[in-house]
Amino acid sequence: MNPPVTSRKLRILLAEDVNVIAMSMAHALERAGYEVRVAHDGEECLRMALDDVPDLLLLDIMMPKLDGIEVLKQLRQDERTRNLAVVVCSAKDFKTERDVAAQLGAAGYFIKSSDPDALVTKVADVFSPPAQTATASDQPGGQVWVPMLKTGRAHFKLWGTRGSTPTLGGRFQRHGGNTSCMSFHIGDDLIVFDAGSGIRDLGIEIMGSKARRIHLFITHTHWDHIQGFPFFIPAYVPGYELVIYGSKGFGKNLEDIFRGQLDRDYFPVQMEDMHGNLQFRLLPDGPVNIGDAQVTWEFAHHPLPTVGYKVKAEGRTLVWMPDDEFLQGYTGTPHELTRDHGLVRQFDKIIEFVSGADVLIHEAQYTAEEYPKKIGWGHSSVPNAAVLMKLAGIRRWIVTHHDPMHDDAFLETKLNLTRQILAEIGHPDIAVTHGYDGMTEYLTR
Ligand SMILES: [Zn+2]
Ligand SMILES: [Zn+2]
Repeated sequence: MNPPVTSRKLRILLAEDVNVIAMSMAHALERAGYEVRVAHDGEECLRMALDDVPDLLLLDIMMPKLDGIEVLKQLRQDERTRNLAVVVCSAKDFKTERDVAAQLGAAGYFIKSSDPDALVTKVADVFSPPAQTATASDQPGGQVWVPMLKTGRAHFKLWGTRGSTPTLGGRFQRHGGNTSCMSFHIGDDLIVFDAGSGIRDLGIEIMGSKARRIHLFITHTHWDHIQGFPFFIPAYVPGYELVIYGSKGFGKNLEDIFRGQLDRDYFPVQMEDMHGNLQFRLLPDGPVNIGDAQVTWEFAHHPLPTVGYKVKAEGRTLVWMPDDEFLQGYTGTPHELTRDHGLVRQFDKIIEFVSGADVLIHEAQYTAEEYPKKIGWGHSSVPNAAVLMKLAGIRRWIVTHHDPMHDDAFLETKLNLTRQILAEIGHPDIAVTHGYDGMTEYLTR
């Protein structure tokens, strides 16, 4: 969306203390044709707004020296800025802050996201409010019902759904090309699974949020599950605590592997330059409790001692198992595979682990046609993964770890084929979708 046509550029003052976020927001707005100045704390914002009143103030709430709400109060007391258009920006949707902002006459409330278009759209809306066709008093009951998303509930977001290597280009836009990463949010607790290239965008979002303690669970240390770590900003910033969990038996220990990819031969910055508080931990046999969530693990069928993770929260269960070659070597029809089939029995532990999950995020990287050439590579064929869904009683399956050779059009066909296979083995009721970068879902409805 473009700004309205005026004889001069519209001027925006952007108050944002986290530099990397300020830069990305300013860049998006400048590209859309606005003139942008940046204030880095509340006091600076107040001074800049009063000295040279902008057309719009984008005001972050959490800022050093003076928080955004206090800045807004003071601006409203000054003649020059009494009617200044202000959009309050926040990392999360806090009802109290939204209410106070509305009382102080804010023109909008923006929840920061890594999508620059969302910001540009919000700003354009402020400058060109929609034509009024009806007023609140015309509605039955005279009130406008505006439901708000309750963001404190447990939810997950996929940041990387590509397997093996990041994949760029127009043909991959819809699903995205970042490698494995998922965040799980409950209250102020942040749990992250895998550190593929998707974790870079997650890091940028974390810098604008309240999260300071991050629990990172690694399934295994193949490139596509750790390659984003050197670009994960919170690891470099003092005040962030990062607890990294991995299974034993990687050959080297987890810390050495992470340190190794930051070796001078590969990367200009070393682990010693990471000033966050980094702690490496071996997965315990029992559950890891984080706030109101509980994380457990089981070995998957994949080279290295690879694991899958199960999170329980709010009475619901989510499983993250991006790499798993279920029924390795089987290329026959899925119809006749029952729970007591000899081959199936070898995968008992995996079936039991995922059984009853409300959401199972599991791969099906190869079509039945591709699979015979890829046996032993550690990834499932679509029919074999469909058998797992059937035997484990899964109702909701999100397919991830898309093959870098599979573009959006191919994945569309592959998804329809997956649905057809599920129907043919008697389970048209299993809701299957393909994960994509940015996909967000709440565990409870
Ligand atoms: Zn992988
Ligand atoms: Zn792997």
